[in-house]
Amino acid sequence: MITDKFIDHFNEKQVKPHFQITLDGYREKHDEVRFVTKTKGSYFTIINNIKKLVENEMFVRLRINYTDENLTNIYKIADDLPIKDKELIKDYLLIDFHRVWQNSKVDDINIIVDKNIERIKEKGFRTKNSTYNSENVKGSCYADKHNSAVVNYNGDIYKCTARDFKTENREGYINENGKIVWENNSFEKRMNAKFHNEPCLTCRLLAICNGCCSQQALEHLGKENFCIYAFDEKEKDKVIKTRVDLIMNDQG
Ligand code: SF4
Ligand code: SF4
Repeated sequence: MITDKFIDHFNEKQVKPHFQITLDGYREKHDEVRFVTKTKGSYFTIINNIKKLVENEMFVRLRINYTDENLTNIYKIADDLPIKDKELIKDYLLIDFHRVWQNSKVDDINIIVDKNIERIKEKGFRTKNSTYNSENVKGSCYADKHNSAVVNYNGDIYKCTARDFKTENREGYINENGKIVWENNSFEKRMNAKFHNEPCLTCRLLAICNGCCSQQALEHLGKENFCIYAFDEKEKDKVIKTRVDLIMNDQG
């Protein structure tokens, strides 16, 4: 979707938008699921567009959605981003790893991810592993924030971006005066959905895990107890390790 005309337009208007652009694995794996035609994948188009945006000083969060099946050679993505100016890479590109939630299970895949991340870092890129994010309170999902709304092309309003943008799923719409109208009390329902999951209330991780996002909370409301780390104490330890690493890195 990103063209030179699009980039020129923002440059002319002196607007510097931020982008989140996803890859679903390295070349072949990505192209298996994100293709234009049976013989044409989207990997190189996406890579070229990221390069153009960064070179135009537009910030890109390159989100790598990984599973235990698409991790092969994932560190090589960095080799396909031939941005010569190291300062631009530092200021305008963040490579952010997220495990696909449908693929979450208790295993040691994080060790492989960490090794890949290290290799990417060695090439001068900024990286983040958001799977064991330890800043879910300060940095909660935008859907959990009061002042965030997702506007679809037709004026439908949503909060979460990880579900289908079907009109029957919308949480509101923009009226003729440009105001957001939330439907069926959806805004209040979402904002009040959190902290009803009993195990979270006595969990040692609550203060950095934040329970879960509002979408998960809504979907589990009134249903069985749940934990985004499958109640596995070793998985929770990995989040604490991320936190400790963060503190140690801050302290230089
Ligand atoms: S609300 Fe949850 S599922 Fe939706 S975008 Fe945020 S983190 Fe993802
Ligand atoms: S680790 Fe699990 S039980 Fe603990 S706060 Fe997070 S979601 Fe709740």
